[in-house]
Amino acid sequence: MASKDYHLVYGSLKEGLHEFSYHLTEDFFTSIEQELIQKGDVHVLLKLDRSERHLSLDFKLDGWVDKSCDTCLSQLQYPIDSLHHLHVKISDKEMEDEADLIVLGSGEYQLDLTSHLFDFVALSLPMKIECEDPMNSEECDKTVLKMLATEEGDNDKTTHPEWQKLKEIFKN
Ligand SMILES: [Zn+2]
Repeated sequence: MASKDYHLVYGSLKEGLHEFSYHLTEDFFTSIEQELIQKGDVHVLLKLDRSERHLSLDFKLDGWVDKSCDTCLSQLQYPIDSLHHLHVKISDKEMEDEADLIVLGSGEYQLDLTSHLFDFVALSLPMKIECEDPMNSEECDKTVLKMLATEEGDNDKTTHPEWQKLKEIFKN
């Protein structure tokens, strides 16, 4: 399913520094089977340092993804600003996979970055997404309190879809 655009073709790269850039938009997020992120706009700058048997990859992510606040469910453009590292070893020996180490055989010439790029974005998100700005989070709390108050006196009439979603969250 992965688009060719996210394949890093390193086979013909000379030793030394190289730069690549990627742009992650809705097409990228919807091409991957996942439910965490559907929309976003993230620029990725990759600085690659190649030596004979190693590639050192430094990624800088900058942009936003569409998420909803876990408290009030309003839509947010959650900022993404993070750095990630991958180390590629070119070797034909059997090796254990490590977290940021990828081992590729000497006959390989490209690396599909799709799942790595997605993981980087996903890892940039906190466990709990909240309206960040203090003014907004006050608004955020009020909205929820109001919804809870309405809920007490008026159980089944609340059919607002977001509120239904929120009820599910509170149940868990
Ligand atoms: Zn909120």
